[in-house]
Amino acid sequence: MDFTVKYDVAVVGAGVAGIAAALAAARRGHKVALIEKQTLIGGLATSGLIYIYLPLCDGKGTQVIKGISEEMLYRSLEFSQFDLPKEWGGAGISEVGQRFNRLRVDFSPAGFILSLDEMLAEAGVDLWLDTRVCAVQKSGDKVTALEVENTSGRILVQAGAFVDASGEAIIVRRAGGAVECDYNNLSLWLIENTPEAQDSTYYFGKTLRVKPFMFAKNDIAPGDGMDGRKVTDFTRVCYKHLREFYRESYKTSSRYEHYPIHLPAMPQFRKIAAAKCRFMLDTKGYGVHHEDSIGLTGDWRAPGPVWETPLRSLVPETLDGVFAAGRCMGAINDAWEVYRVIPTAAMTGEAAGLAAALTVENKCDSRDLDYKLVQDALRKKDVPLHLRDVNLTAYTAD
Ligand SMILES: Cc1cc2nc3c(=O)[nH]c(=O)nc-3n(C[C@H](O)[C@H](O)[C@H](O)COP(=O)(O)OP(=O)(O)OC[C@H]3O[C@@H](n4cnc5c(N)ncnc54)[C@H](O)[C@@H]3O)c2cc1C
Repeated sequence: MDFTVKYDVAVVGAGVAGIAAALAAARRGHKVALIEKQTLIGGLATSGLIYIYLPLCDGKGTQVIKGISEEMLYRSLEFSQFDLPKEWGGAGISEVGQRFNRLRVDFSPAGFILSLDEMLAEAGVDLWLDTRVCAVQKSGDKVTALEVENTSGRILVQAGAFVDASGEAIIVRRAGGAVECDYNNLSLWLIENTPEAQDSTYYFGKTLRVKPFMFAKNDIAPGDGMDGRKVTDFTRVCYKHLREFYRESYKTSSRYEHYPIHLPAMPQFRKIAAAKCRFMLDTKGYGVHHEDSIGLTGDWRAPGPVWETPLRSLVPETLDGVFAAGRCMGAINDAWEVYRVIPTAAMTGEAAGLAAALTVENKCDSRDLDYKLVQDALRKKDVPLHLRDVNLTAYTAD
């Protein structure tokens, strides 16, 4: 190691989950490092050229996500051309309207980066860009330090507790913890200039739009993002499809008006690795009461289902000192679809950041942290934890 640094909490991954985690811990007065391998923050939401902050509501008129996730949604508006829908969900809106007229907003990925960076600066988070976690040090079950690398060399980052918001469970995997994987469809979103009609939400300007591609409906990606070689293969297969797309389009349009401008800076695997946690959220887990819930989420795909989120789904089974958040937390199958999106990832990030901070404050094993402490801290921020907190009653047995 070239040198050693010490923090109370170290968060890996400056995607929306990691940013929410770092903000939550720093706002409690802790010294927090946020380690990101790219030079852009926001993770898939920005580097993946995603532009829809999916809903904070249940699609039936009830807001279920608040806290830092809501704060981020409002901050995302400042440097963009988009507005919140005037009316979302609720009585009198058709099923189709409930699906699309929700408490969600489109955003400019570049504008969102500017806002997120300001939020981190305001909270005093120590952001480390262009810094990759390469290895993890442990003492018994306890993760004690990260070995990271950047242009200064190899650095040891010690901390009292860690949040794995890497989208690929890198801390958990490097520490020998178990993960679950899933398939991905081939997809790639890019910014392009296009002559096509402009009345679509995909447009940023007169001709500029984000063009989402799902190549052939059932085209399964080469690999799940867990293998370095396959990350390259995935990316290059997408490029090959794009070349075919543009060459085909030039049979009827001109390259002077239809051409690519920017490609995503992250491979668009929706799911890479979910940390094996003390509780794995799974298909049809909505409406279930969890005594240790740290937040709610709706289902972005359909109005109705609301999920409580047990703290246990952020606690890797075999490791002390680590919480998982965002799209690498303990959610699989259909639950992974629900939990991997921006507002929900940020909601779990805030809880994981608080849990890490409370683990340090209470000097306890992260697996033994009293969930009521996390809940108390979240309640003080007006975050709804249980269905009953938002007057919903669809409980089934835990
Ligand atoms: C094609 C596609 C379309 C989507 N569309 C939408 C949509 O319209 N709306 C929506 O809400 N969601 C959408 N999503 C999902 C959503 O964008 C992501 O799942 C969400 O942003 C994940 O956030 P996260 O913070 O959990 O993870 P990530 O965004 O993956 O962040 C993880 C961060 O960790 C960093 N990292 C990883 N490994 C290391 C390491 N070793 N060292 C240091 N840093 C590391 C990464 O660089 C990254 O910045 C879409 C996803 C895809 C793929």
